[in-house]
Amino acid sequence: MKVVLPLRQHIGAPCKPCVEKDQEVKKGQLIAVPDGLGANIHSSVYGVVTNITDEAIEIACHEEQLEEFVKIKDTDSNLEAIKEAGVVGAGGAGFPAHVKFNADLKGGYVLANAAECEPLLAHNVELMENNPELVVKGVKYVMEITNAKKGYIAVKPKHKKAIMALGKACKNVSGVEVKFLPDMYPAGDERVVIRELVGVELKPGQLPLEAGCVVSNVETLKNVVLAIEERKPVITKDITIAGRVKDAMKGKVYMDVPLGLSVGKYIEMSGGYIKPHGEIVLGGPFTGKAGSEESPITKTTGGAIVSMPFPNDEREFGIIICECGAGKERLTEIVEGMGGKVVAETMCKRMVDDGRGRYRCELPGMCPGQAEKVLYLKKEGAKAVVVGTCED
Ligand code: SF4
Repeated sequence: MKVVLPLRQHIGAPCKPCVEKDQEVKKGQLIAVPDGLGANIHSSVYGVVTNITDEAIEIACHEEQLEEFVKIKDTDSNLEAIKEAGVVGAGGAGFPAHVKFNADLKGGYVLANAAECEPLLAHNVELMENNPELVVKGVKYVMEITNAKKGYIAVKPKHKKAIMALGKACKNVSGVEVKFLPDMYPAGDERVVIRELVGVELKPGQLPLEAGCVVSNVETLKNVVLAIEERKPVITKDITIAGRVKDAMKGKVYMDVPLGLSVGKYIEMSGGYIKPHGEIVLGGPFTGKAGSEESPITKTTGGAIVSMPFPNDEREFGIIICECGAGKERLTEIVEGMGGKVVAETMCKRMVDDGRGRYRCELPGMCPGQAEKVLYLKKEGAKAVVVGTCED
């Protein structure tokens, strides 16, 4: 068995390896360091480095895998511990946590994003149900680091068991409360979380700090606690397997999966494919990307969803792009997967230039109808439309 640890599991530049081919490594050992914006990468297993490329470090696993791991080195502060442990945004964004939390909120808010917005993904809810105290402690640590006065855990009302568990865990913790998000998509967008909990409407391109907030996914907060209290580097990920998989149609959660193992292994462990099946989507149905059985589990992998085979449709297609759904690349991939051709494209009318050349949604979750856009695509020759928008 082997693990493949990509050198880029975060926003920023790929890390630089600090081990060599044929070197013995221990679980938790530092194997790559940032080269600019990034986060440390550690071995998730005991083994031998068999290959180093520009993209990844491959390690052949020893048969015996002990529970114990190499702890991160002593640090002067909790923020340094988070940096040493290589904590990044586990919700998919992969932003290095030590950079995000290096802020003075002057009495502002730490918002734990527990929306679990993508359909089928369930590992964040399971974390809150079974280990709510880890989330609450994580919020408290980040409040101390960022000088925040309030900590809100943002949950959808439908996750009743998680709410009960979190409520109990918050009971005697000052400054931390459970708050509700609307049960819609994309409730987990950072700007939606801030709008719903703090009442500040950020413009596209404005950062949460401008509203006195830091927003962090709940699994990231769990990793913060493990880094500080157990000196544990990020070497595992919680994932959900779902879709056309025998024992996981509605979603099966695996907690603390070693980084670098392939998603194919977990599809197999979940009973294998239901035939016929289509592609493997890494992440959620809205924002996931096509992957393969060999795709390694990284610090940001939310899960693997096995889809239906694409229907055969060779028509001319138009596509409508949304910030919170599939982008141009993914929509084109879907059209071409069906045998069709993209002849025209447009965006939801709420998408605006954020001033840095990136198109962002003006009002996430306040989704308009797309009739006008469909008519435009029709005029451009589209016979059918594929939408990445979350409504309509
Ligand atoms: S308003 Fe448009 S771009 Fe924004 S989330 Fe809704 S569909 Fe997507």
